[in-house]
Amino acid sequence: MKLHEYQAKEVFARYGIPVQRGVVISRPDEVDRLDLRYPVVVKAQVLVGGRGKAGGIKLAANPGEARRHAQAILGMSIKGERVTRLLVAEAAKIEKEYYLAFTLDRAARRMVAIASAAGGIDIEEVARATPERIAKHSVDPSLGFLPFHARELGAAIGLRGDHLTAFAALAASLYRLTVQEEAELAEINPLAVADGKLVAVDAKLILDDSAAFRHKDRPTNEEMTDLERAAREAGLSYVELDGDLAVIGNGAGLVMSTLDVVAHFGGRPANFLDVGGGATTENMTAAMEIVLRKPGVRALFINIFGGITRCDDIARAIAARPPRVPVAVRLTGTNEEEGRRILEGAAIHAFIGPEEAAQEAVRLARGARS
Ligand code: GDP
Ligand code: MN
Repeated sequence: MKLHEYQAKEVFARYGIPVQRGVVISRPDEVDRLDLRYPVVVKAQVLVGGRGKAGGIKLAANPGEARRHAQAILGMSIKGERVTRLLVAEAAKIEKEYYLAFTLDRAARRMVAIASAAGGIDIEEVARATPERIAKHSVDPSLGFLPFHARELGAAIGLRGDHLTAFAALAASLYRLTVQEEAELAEINPLAVADGKLVAVDAKLILDDSAAFRHKDRPTNEEMTDLERAAREAGLSYVELDGDLAVIGNGAGLVMSTLDVVAHFGGRPANFLDVGGGATTENMTAAMEIVLRKPGVRALFINIFGGITRCDDIARAIAARPPRVPVAVRLTGTNEEEGRRILEGAAIHAFIGPEEAAQEAVRLARGARS
């Protein structure tokens, strides 16, 4: 489970990691009631990265400016996620940005500490372009992350003196947090030097869901998106991604392989929905309605392997209410002849092979784009 920045910072604060004072709001007029020192930073609380670049983070020198930014950012859609809450925090006077994270190195079966003096930017990009600017320490679980490990790591990214001492204490706290909270990732980007002190300006925390039963006090975040809730109510399993091709299939395995085939042909799924075995015309109608409600969907790929699910039922749903975007259908199995006939009646061609259908779907998503 991924936490929002403000939730992650609450956890950070419990572990003594310095964060800015801040308040979460959901309406612009709440700005007036805040007891914060200006300038402040107004930050969209969405579970995607790169909020700054997307215009979801703004500095404000006074309440009027903060209100205007709040007005602009609330309701904004960042990578498909609508902003309903803002963190308003006392702005840090940033002198330098570092990067620090603990994450699971699955291959090594250990936690690894990652640090860099190139903070505030996409760490994957740093790793690609200038790998020498990244320092790592693989944590031996029988030793833990010891004070001298923390100092070595800090020294490796150029920290000296008081900053190095503060970094070592902070890194030790972040390690303790990672282990005790059973996090898969605890990331601070940027970890800033501001007014001569280190402060976690951003916070990202992904908690291990398999350990949830040991942590009854975890935030019950994971608010579903409206679409995810609608899907659950309709008894459909639905997952949001950030591409432009909506995907419907029947059966978890088929849906997974559908995503692979789409990716193979260079497509980017916007979401995917499993209508399950024995899907009816009604299920299929609800499924199309849900996947197409996601903004940014440019084509729809329906991949049905009829078993208990009857191809004619599926086809009836598609033909009755043709989607608002171009659609590629792969239909095979039980009653496929009739299904095909129904679709032909609606001028929709149904493919037999998943590859050709996927290729067509990817082409449609691209074509609709230009
Ligand atoms: P992200 O874009 O989603 O990673 O959000 P961040 O919280 O990392 O903010 C992005 C960038 O905005 C940071 O790297 C900073 O450059 C800037 N920023 C965020 N908070 C502050 C702040 O309190 N003061 C200043 N001066 N800049 C900030
Ligand atoms: Mn960040």
